[in-house]
Amino acid sequence: MSYTRTKSQALLDRASRSLAGGVGSVIRLAELPGPLYFERGEGARLYDVDGNEYIDYVLGQGPLILGHNPKVVLDAVHQQIDRLLVTAGQHIHEVETSERIQRIVPCAQLVRYNNSGSEAVQMAFRLARAFTGRQKYIKFEGHFHGWPDTVAISTAPTAENMGPREKPNMVAGSAGMATNVFDNIILLPWNDLAIVERTLEAQAHEIACIITEPIMFNAGGAEPRPGFLEGLRKLCDQYGVVLVFDEVISGFRVSLGGAQELYGVTPDLATFAKGIAAGFPLSALAGRRDILDLAARNVVNYAGTYNSNPVVMAAANAATKYLDENRDQVYGHLRAMGGKLNAGLTEIFARRGVPALVNAIGPVIQLAFTKRDKFYEYRDYLDRDANLAKRFTTALAEHGVRTTLRGTWYISAAHSEADIEETLDRAESALGAALG
Ligand code: PLP
Repeated sequence: MSYTRTKSQALLDRASRSLAGGVGSVIRLAELPGPLYFERGEGARLYDVDGNEYIDYVLGQGPLILGHNPKVVLDAVHQQIDRLLVTAGQHIHEVETSERIQRIVPCAQLVRYNNSGSEAVQMAFRLARAFTGRQKYIKFEGHFHGWPDTVAISTAPTAENMGPREKPNMVAGSAGMATNVFDNIILLPWNDLAIVERTLEAQAHEIACIITEPIMFNAGGAEPRPGFLEGLRKLCDQYGVVLVFDEVISGFRVSLGGAQELYGVTPDLATFAKGIAAGFPLSALAGRRDILDLAARNVVNYAGTYNSNPVVMAAANAATKYLDENRDQVYGHLRAMGGKLNAGLTEIFARRGVPALVNAIGPVIQLAFTKRDKFYEYRDYLDRDANLAKRFTTALAEHGVRTTLRGTWYISAAHSEADIEETLDRAESALGAALG
């Protein structure tokens, strides 16, 4: 095996002397076999400084829904970049993009923009509080909504510190977090409507919103139980609580209109990022007119120097236009490639006698080495074989397939059948190496 990451390691060593930890975001430290330096990407392929080629399923942690360097988006951005960078004023791209989102996302009566998913989530909380006059929110164990103090809680607790299922401990995701944020959070297990109902019965008068990933992509890829999202919708209506779907991963990916379109349940507010601008840093908060009207009238302060800047909005305008105009072809292809990779990986693990749960939700594959045949909530995901996952992820990289340690594989519109077939061949060899 000729795989080497000598040049990446040398750059990491050099970077660590000026850049804290040598990386820009903590998750990049978890790359296996170690943090990598990349030079170039094209379609489904990515190339690092050591000359390794990868079929890429990380896709920047999700944004590259059209693959690396999608021409249709880059052309629009190049044009925009030569004209205007940032104005603190308005421009046509935000008008066209908002009109399109309004048409394709069920909850989007109005839209506003930020730069990251984390920011859009904070704006959702602010709007929900202003709308209801209440302070608290329900958050689910294992769900990830970004890095701020308000949400970096119990995203990945351990069996030792998570506490009882029905009343989980609030586990801070970082040192240095404000401890008073805990006062406003009601932490519950996901996919259990009865617990949500009991909680609302007792405390709805102080609960502004429920925030949920409509599909639990950040911990095992669990889908909502039949009736769970519908039940949340009904309870929120009954108790005057704002329902927030965090569609940062699912949006523009599991369906053009997101998980809310896929499951036919419309939240009051929804956050989008990643897929929305095909690789450029943009997030959107979409939702009910009467709630976003609080931002329109500046009752809620919704600000940001780079919000909806012309360059990222040119990217979003081009990306969403392309996805909209090629909707059947793109989403049909994404589903087909997800199905093919899912079937192929499932067959390989079965043939090798390796207990594994492979689940394709549209173009997102979730892989976990477990005897379970389904995940329903975060705790189901804890008894997976994390050591085998490490060995397999490392071996995959060494065989030219880049995935995430947590088992999420993102597929882009640029992944072809031939890419999937080559991936399966490489995965088979990698599994052999991982099993030793
Ligand atoms: N919400 C979800 C569901 C996410 O997966 C993420 C990031 O991965 C975020 C919010 C935070 O988005 P960002 O990293 O753009 O701040």
